[in-house]
Amino acid sequence: MSSLSLSAEAPSAPPAAVDGVWLECIDCGDAYAPFESVRYTCDCGALLEVRYDDLPTWDDFEGRGVWRYSAALPFEEGVSLPEGDTQFHRVPRLEDEVGVESLRVKHEGMNPTGSFKDRGMTVGVRTAQELGVGRLACASTGNTSAALAAYGARAGLETLVLLPAGKVAAGKVAQASLHGARILEVDGNFDTCLDIVQDLASRGEAYLLNSLNPFRLEGQKTIGLEILEAHREDYGEYPDRIVLPVGNAGNTAALYKCFRELVQAGAMDRDEVPKLTGVQAAGAAPMVEAIEEGNDETRRWDEVETIATAIRIGNPVNAPKALPGIRETGGTAVAVDDDTITQAQRDLAGEGVGVEPASAASLAGLRKLRERGEVGDDERVVCLTTGHLLKDPDAAAAAGADPEPVPGDTAGVLEHLGS
Ligand SMILES: *Cc1c(COP(=O)(O)O)cnc(C)c1O
Ligand SMILES: [Zn+2]
Repeated sequence: MSSLSLSAEAPSAPPAAVDGVWLECIDCGDAYAPFESVRYTCDCGALLEVRYDDLPTWDDFEGRGVWRYSAALPFEEGVSLPEGDTQFHRVPRLEDEVGVESLRVKHEGMNPTGSFKDRGMTVGVRTAQELGVGRLACASTGNTSAALAAYGARAGLETLVLLPAGKVAAGKVAQASLHGARILEVDGNFDTCLDIVQDLASRGEAYLLNSLNPFRLEGQKTIGLEILEAHREDYGEYPDRIVLPVGNAGNTAALYKCFRELVQAGAMDRDEVPKLTGVQAAGAAPMVEAIEEGNDETRRWDEVETIATAIRIGNPVNAPKALPGIRETGGTAVAVDDDTITQAQRDLAGEGVGVEPASAASLAGLRKLRERGEVGDDERVVCLTTGHLLKDPDAAAAAGADPEPVPGDTAGVLEHLGS
């Protein structure tokens, strides 16, 4: 049986394991020592996952934030700002309008640099220290570069980021720049940037911290752990469904791994696992295509376009991990138009929750699935909002109302308000 099956047995340590931790290929099952040398993929070319011979249960967690869950991570502590412990908003008006049993919004835009990427970087940059690498690098639609720049700065490591020229929201470039990353603006889209940075990494020029790096996904597992704990506390049960925007599908893969490990540890029943529901923009939807057509792989989309620049990705590298996650949990994937993304961004803002466009795709996708009758009115749903409103001030300003010019005196202002 595939190690990615929800019914896979808990693994036991191979000779390559160090202190009960190893890297394992999701295809051929080959095992590698975790920190002996820099490695992102298996010799066979497939993706790797971090494995543990001792999987924790709920009693093993204490403290707050990502490192509350150190028992589920390869280290006791990371390079921390600190991250995690994000808001779990109630959104009563949206809950009524969407018409589900309950709706919560997990706002990952409230992490230190304003996106969930921080959860990955606190573990990923700690791993870089363990390996003793000199330079960190990533390709990015923006948020990965902002997070890497900040965590690299914290660790005192040199950071290189490759961005698609003209396609990264202003707030994200500003962050990478001020935190001291060297920024290369590539004449190409995100997928081209990732191709190049993977080449650089394989030549030993830099340590790659895209979500291809299996250690990053370990940190991102903690989104799932936080949601499950908070939901159980508030409703006495786990959510039926988690809806999230999908770009490279790292988060989808990380959440699925979180659930799988809990099932293997006996901390959650198989039938309690939330349905993973991925949302993509219609102009960049290779995962939706693969789910709809029943394919085990995604087709690379060379032309991608959407207002949701964080998920403007045509070749999702984590698809081999994420597609089984969507299928095994009984979830689905759906594509949404940019105008419904913008409307969802406005409506979340109307509940006081400020998110960037990609994040709003989760609500837009939930609405579409409710319209199609694919999400029941008896479901408890959590939408993941991945990045903060201020990441993309231009999109926010365009979605909001225009400022009104008035004269510089009270009488003039009153006259304007009365008119
Ligand atoms: C990175 C990112 C995504 C996509 O996440 P994946 O793990 O690549 O699917 C979605 N939204 C925002 C705001 C992001 O920064
Ligand atoms: Zn392999």
